[in-house]
Amino acid sequence: ASAWAKIPQGPPVRITEAFKADSFDKKINLGVGAYRDDKGKPYVLPSVRAAEEKVIASRLNKEYAGITGVPEFTKAAAVLAYGADSSALDRLAITQSISGTGALRIGGAFLARHYPGAKTIYIPQPSWANHAAVFKDCGLEVEKYAYYNKDTIGLDYEGMVADINSAPDGSIFLFHACAHNPTGVDPTPEQWKEIEAAVKAKGHHAFFDMAYQGFASGNIHTDAFAVRHFVAEGHNITLSQSFAKNMGLYGERIGAFSVVCADAEERKRVDSQVKILVRPMYSNPPIHGARIAAEILNTPALYDQWLIEVKGMADRIITMRALLKDNLEKLGSKHDWSHITSQIGMFAYTGLTPEQMDQLAKEHSVYATRDGRISVAGITSENVSRLAEAIFKVKG
Ligand code: PLP
Repeated sequence: ASAWAKIPQGPPVRITEAFKADSFDKKINLGVGAYRDDKGKPYVLPSVRAAEEKVIASRLNKEYAGITGVPEFTKAAAVLAYGADSSALDRLAITQSISGTGALRIGGAFLARHYPGAKTIYIPQPSWANHAAVFKDCGLEVEKYAYYNKDTIGLDYEGMVADINSAPDGSIFLFHACAHNPTGVDPTPEQWKEIEAAVKAKGHHAFFDMAYQGFASGNIHTDAFAVRHFVAEGHNITLSQSFAKNMGLYGERIGAFSVVCADAEERKRVDSQVKILVRPMYSNPPIHGARIAAEILNTPALYDQWLIEVKGMADRIITMRALLKDNLEKLGSKHDWSHITSQIGMFAYTGLTPEQMDQLAKEHSVYATRDGRISVAGITSENVSRLAEAIFKVKG
């Protein structure tokens, strides 16, 4: 018999099967985790095209990068996240990673091996579906902290702080730096300050997942507020960065994982251990996307262009949120849809039930996850009114 004869069938990972099978030409896919332009098409940033052409024209060789990747990329990624004047830059151990997921994986493995406290990581309830899986596979225990309030479709701020306060001292907390996935609900800067104080009082370790810098508000500094505030307040955080969304480099798999250390000497030791972790995982990361990102981050004209393009993507998302809300109100919906515009980033948590989401798919050919999350990136000026009508018919 085959060695795999007893392997059970796993559940399907994505919801696109039903969408593909639907033959209606006005079907809408709001399950995608990638930006789409106003015609519903994948978007390659012009700054990325220009940087890629420069990279190709320079006819570099294809030798291996070092274990921690392309240094021009990681140096610039650190500046982008922490800020050019950050005290963390001289004491930062950073490695290129296989996008954000790979950064979380290295981070989880690093904490599992080297964190001196309990090997339990607290993630928000709910969180990006992959977080629990990644951290469990790293050998960490995963616990949840309160985050989302179903009744207000907003942040359960009191619950969150209460859970920070009741976790054992020195616990590991994972925070979404901005554009929380799946809810689109972020703490305000004032709330972040209180959260920081609570984390500090308990001696917890903060691990930030920043998958959407610039993509949330349209401003890379605004979106890095929480990360930079924690560092300024003396936290030696760990950080995962992704360039999938803000540069549209999804398939290039470009990200970074970094550890803020006490000083340069500690940084050297941490860096050696990060290398020891990465080497048996995949030896060293791919170079092409890192060269593109480095070209953008290190060339002032391309960098300025990129900032405008990131803002363009964020603005389109913000506009689609407003249009969806307007359309629902014009149809006469009596529900309060203000959460659609107060939430931020690629995803909106509609508050629709799993049954209502099933109905959207079956009766209106609108596909998204059953938790009520829709990808605002899938909304266009053309499909927004049909989407609003469908939601109105299902929910009123
Ligand atoms: N973290 C969060 C919160 C995300 O939403 C995503 C992507 O959807 C990721 C990390 C990782 O994405 P990638 O591995 O493509 O960078």
